[in-house]
Amino acid sequence: SVPAALASGLSAGARRGLLIKGGAALEQIGAAKIVAFDKTGTLTAGHPKVTDVLPAPGTSAWDVLAYAAAVEQGSSHPLAKAVMAEAASRGIATPPASDQGAVPGKAVTATVGGRKVSVGSPRHAAETGAGMGGFAGQVTGFENEGKTAVMVVVDGAVAGVLALRDEPRADAAAGVAALSKLGVRSVMLTGDNARTGAAIAGGLGLDVKAELLPEDKLREIGALRSSGSVVMVGDGINDAPALAAASVGIAMGGGTDVALETADAAVLKDRVSGVAELVGLSRSTMANVK
Ligand code: ADP
Ligand code: MG
Repeated sequence: SVPAALASGLSAGARRGLLIKGGAALEQIGAAKIVAFDKTGTLTAGHPKVTDVLPAPGTSAWDVLAYAAAVEQGSSHPLAKAVMAEAASRGIATPPASDQGAVPGKAVTATVGGRKVSVGSPRHAAETGAGMGGFAGQVTGFENEGKTAVMVVVDGAVAGVLALRDEPRADAAAGVAALSKLGVRSVMLTGDNARTGAAIAGGLGLDVKAELLPEDKLREIGALRSSGSVVMVGDGINDAPALAAASVGIAMGGGTDVALETADAAVLKDRVSGVAELVGLSRSTMANVK
């Protein structure tokens, strides 16, 4: 019977850590033509590490990290945690900061020792008139290696550059290849810059849309939906609205409670391959139901 076939499909998934919240979600996953993945924390581990610190002439790596840590101490962003960890590992005490603010998808700001400091993307540094402080070549080099370059700007001048790297999950390339075998196209959505996005996506074998603000991610999902059923996979950190806007939202396990609530399905262990397994399971279950 239909209910029995459905129940056995859902429980077969549950045994493998693949949760589907009912028949409608299962049908949509089986019909998916395209899967949109969030980058940070979904295709990558979401635990970036500082790999390079370049101080401007007249300043030091110590000062650059101290300013950066002072501004990042109020932020829960993965890049902020990486900066705090690097400063701590070098024994740098975090200076106090006031007037903390954030420019979503671009930078965080604060006043440190009477100086206005911002820590954010090269694009943000350019837009605010600080420029690249002579680091344009190094920034491009970092980004082509798949690293994220972060500019530390003090009173309108570039004090230094940090490079951070967030490693792709071990099974990310295999998970994208498995979807491709099922005839499903994958695309990565990221707020990170275009060069970093392209370097990471190229290594994993999928397309990329980069430099997206949270509202841009929503718009991309809407545009993709016009060509059929779209699955969005994310961890719920900045992408809960996109998860909700897709035909089906899939939460990656270690993600937030928000993601698990908003999503129609979940991969409980952080395995990118779980998405292709969900598609396969949904298709075989639908075949039994029909
Ligand atoms: P993602 O899609 O990776 O979650 P976000 O929208 O969170 O991207 O951030 C986009 C970009 O904005 C980052 O790559 C970084 O350049 C900049 N940015 C955002 N928040 C911070 C922060 N706390 N510290 C430094 N840079 C930041
Ligand atoms: Mg994110």
